[in-house]
Amino acid sequence: MTAQALGRLKDALVLVQGDVFASGLSFRLAVRSVGSFRGRPVYRVILEDGRFYGGQGALEGETEEDALAEVAEGVQDLFAEVLNIAWPDCAVHNRGLHMLCPAGSSPAWWCYFGEGHLVAPVGELSALNPS
Ligand SMILES: [Zn+2]
Repeated sequence: MTAQALGRLKDALVLVQGDVFASGLSFRLAVRSVGSFRGRPVYRVILEDGRFYGGQGALEGETEEDALAEVAEGVQDLFAEVLNIAWPDCAVHNRGLHMLCPAGSSPAWWCYFGEGHLVAPVGELSALNPS
């Protein structure tokens, strides 16, 4: 991974960490290399105590949008698989949100209740979804 890609992942984590705090959770997260595959370091989102979820693809961060989508999904999977927490929730419908990143746009949190609705762009959960 290039230094630029790692920088994009760390920038993305700052935004997603903001969403975590905005939703009332206090877990502190980091992007770290947790091992290597075919001689290349494998980067994942990890918890402060070092726990991580290894079941999804490794973080790549090829573009800003990719980095944000990968980190958002990485945190979602980590919370679900390691902590058994569905995150984040729609404050209106009390259901887990889904991260969508259609080609050419930025990743955002969507609620699928009823016809579905946009909750907030990833990184802006506090502004539009006060808990
Ligand atoms: Zn909703």
